Amino acid sequence: MKTLLVAEFREGKLREKYSQLIAFAKGLQTETSMFLVGSPTDLPQFSGTLFLADVAKYGEYNPTVHKQLLLDVIAKEQPEMIVFHHSSYGWDLAPRIAVALKAAQISEVIAIEDGVPVIPVCNAKLRRKITSKTAQTVLTLQAGAFGMEEDPTGTPTVIQIDTGVTGKVQCSGYEAAKLEGVDLTKSEIIVSAGRGVGKPENIAIVQALAKALGGDYGASRPVVDAGWVDHDRQVGTTGRTVTPKLYVACGISGAIQHLAGMKKSDFIVAINTDKDAPIGEVADVFVVADLKQFLPILTEKLLAR
Ligand SMILES: Cc1cc2nc3c(=O)[nH]c(=O)nc-3n(C[C@H](O)[C@H](O)[C@H](O)COP(=O)(O)OP(=O)(O)OC[C@H]3O[C@@H](n4cnc5c(N)ncnc54)[C@H](O)[C@@H]3O)c2cc1C
Repeated sequence: MKTLLVAEFREGKLREKYSQLIAFAKGLQTETSMFLVGSPTDLPQFSGTLFLADVAKYGEYNPTVHKQLLLDVIAKEQPEMIVFHHSSYGWDLAPRIAVALKAAQISEVIAIEDGVPVIPVCNAKLRRKITSKTAQTVLTLQAGAFGMEEDPTGTPTVIQIDTGVTGKVQCSGYEAAKLEGVDLTKSEIIVSAGRGVGKPENIAIVQALAKALGGDYGASRPVVDAGWVDHDRQVGTTGRTVTPKLYVACGISGAIQHLAGMKKSDFIVAINTDKDAPIGEVADVFVVADLKQFLPILTEKLLAR
């Protein structure tokens, strides 16, 4: 089986998350090559073949041109899997490739079980295994789902691609989203509220603990989607990635998209009524308790010090 990984180059730099693609391929133990429209001076580290098109000529973000470059490599290599990040680059390019190849696309893969991609369903409450019925399959990987314990190593064998293909689309630049309100990426202590808070009035209990600890409060996505907390406080793949000294997860189950945003915190405390909640896998201290009872007592004790 052959796998072709599609790495990304953005704002003059190779995107470091290419290591997630490699971690994914390692789990499958397939013959792996990589495609990149990038620079010969900023190459990914891995042992395998790298098909490299020069970013100076083909642009950083040009789906029509990149599609053609990639299809040429696919025609030559005949990989069974073509693997993208579940990112704006992947969202744009992966379906174009799938349609051109008449291949199945499986989006937001979070794991491989028995050689079969697994995706989250029902707002990540359930997991579903998907078996592709086409000879080639296009995949996008959920951010943070595949991680390497260590940084990848090795030097790729570079095969330069230069077909001269041109297209009508031009990328005029990137516009960073405006940072408004609190910047949790700078917080040293974060206490986050999850759906387990139950109702908007209970956010105050989480805020009180954050204040007593001298930190900020954050939230998981359902709490933000419900409008109980502003979006600038959302932690996770579609919110902030935070690395505080202390992260307290209150009533948060530990879905992969939330973990991706906080698992690099120095010390993690989780408070949850379900002793089997997946947040336990990353927590240094796991308190099995009802947050409505536990948080006010903890806050009171902290304030009494
Ligand atoms: C593309 C995509 C992007 C996403 N991005 C993000 C993101 O950036 N951030 C994010 O957080 N999610 C994100 N999600 C959603 C994610 O998949 C989960 O649905 C979400 O993280 C679950 O939030 P939660 O843990 O608060 O809620 P739930 O999963 O419902 O968990 C609630 C937890 O509270 C516990 N609980 C219940 N009552 C109590 C109580 N009284 N005391 C203590 N514990 C209690 C329960 O046991 C449970 O473990 C994304 C999903 C998708 C598909």
